[in-house]
Amino acid sequence: MRLFIAIEFDEPTKTNITDVQRKLETFGRGRFTHQENLHLTLAFLGEVPPARVAAVRRAMDRTAVEPMTLVFDRTGRFRRDGGDIWWIGLAKNQKLSDLQQELTKHLLEEDFALEKRPFTPHITLARQVRLTTQPAQRDLLPEPFEAKVDGITLMLSERINGRLTYTPQYRKKRAD
Ligand code: ATP
Ligand code: MG
Repeated sequence: MRLFIAIEFDEPTKTNITDVQRKLETFGRGRFTHQENLHLTLAFLGEVPPARVAAVRRAMDRTAVEPMTLVFDRTGRFRRDGGDIWWIGLAKNQKLSDLQQELTKHLLEEDFALEKRPFTPHITLARQVRLTTQPAQRDLLPEPFEAKVDGITLMLSERINGRLTYTPQYRKKRAD
């Protein structure tokens, strides 16, 4: 099973994100993330045997999810040969960094192999993007928006009839 752990968003937040996608679309072309797939990845597990899901759940259960508000205030791109990845990024958030670090620690304790590259929290808007005009920041995101974090979700990533599909496997709620 191809698995990752992510923060999911409520519908108003997804609408805020799709508004940015619609603006980006006016500057060129790309493969835009479907609205139901919008998320922020905290940990990418990759291929995991089904019998190990219980260990992932234990790691999530040991991770305290403090109430926090994310502020999305920037857009950017990761350069790629086949066309760039465009994303929305956030203002520095210590609680989010702590959450990602604590989760990573608990996954390592359960013997999962994780990437050591630094955490760059972002929401992917589109892949394989080729723009005809470069947008200014204010063209895409005239003002920041906020999103509350409700918990973390273990997601299964698979292609179903060619369509990228994420299916929640387990949710750990935030502490109240
Ligand atoms: P696709 O790869 O089919 O274009 P995707 O990247 O959304 O789609 P996955 O590759 O299953 O789907 O990735 C799931 C999530 O994990 C995405 O948020 C992706 O950015 C992230 N991710 C994938 N690979 C890594 C990696 N090696 N390190 C960190 N995050 C990753
Ligand atoms: Mg991928």
